[in-house]
Amino acid sequence: MLDTVQALKEKMVLACKVLQKQGVLDGYGHLSARLPGDRILSTPHMPPGKVALRDIIVIDMQGKKLEGAGEPNGETPMHTSIYKARPDVQCILHYHPDEVIAVSVASEGIKVVANCGVHFYRGTPIYDSPLLIRNHERGDQVAATLGDRNAVLLRGHGGTVVANDLDKLLRLGIDLVRAARIQMMAASLGPAKTHTQAECEEMVKGHDRPDTNRRYIDYYISEVVD
Ligand SMILES: [Zn+2]
Repeated sequence: MLDTVQALKEKMVLACKVLQKQGVLDGYGHLSARLPGDRILSTPHMPPGKVALRDIIVIDMQGKKLEGAGEPNGETPMHTSIYKARPDVQCILHYHPDEVIAVSVASEGIKVVANCGVHFYRGTPIYDSPLLIRNHERGDQVAATLGDRNAVLLRGHGGTVVANDLDKLLRLGIDLVRAARIQMMAASLGPAKTHTQAECEEMVKGHDRPDTNRRYIDYYISEVVD
């Protein structure tokens, strides 16, 4: 990862502020980022939207705290299991937005009915249990359910998104909630048309270009900084 540890911590705090401002966080949920040497930066056991730079802790791949004053979150095993299973994943957001919880019980996951949902066209598999991910066995099950996708829904509980950088993660974190919300709005009007596979593939083609998320992210950042 190109960012220094300090820059990474600052980006994590900013991402948490943005997510808080957008109303997609509650008192729980957590954000983490991979460091070299099998270490992980994580928000600690406190509301993620209230986290300051000094609060970010360092944990190892077993979830044990290495640095920082706070304690690891109870659902840390979800993060460590995903990092072990997915070497490409550099950061993870787990949260409990109402819209994501609602879609998680509808058994089909996110249907791409709006452009903000195209990130998820390869599917958002559902981990079929509302129990919190407090041990490595459940963490491994969530990682297996996620597979090679960028989002997994947890039935009646919330969602987890993964990415290879924090800008992309922030975008996925906001767009998963928007996609869920629009899906529900469209459903209330009758049968909804979904994007075709070809349309989704065409739209996501350019998503991995450098700085492709810049304008999107900068808008949300401008809402939380002067
Ligand atoms: Zn949770």
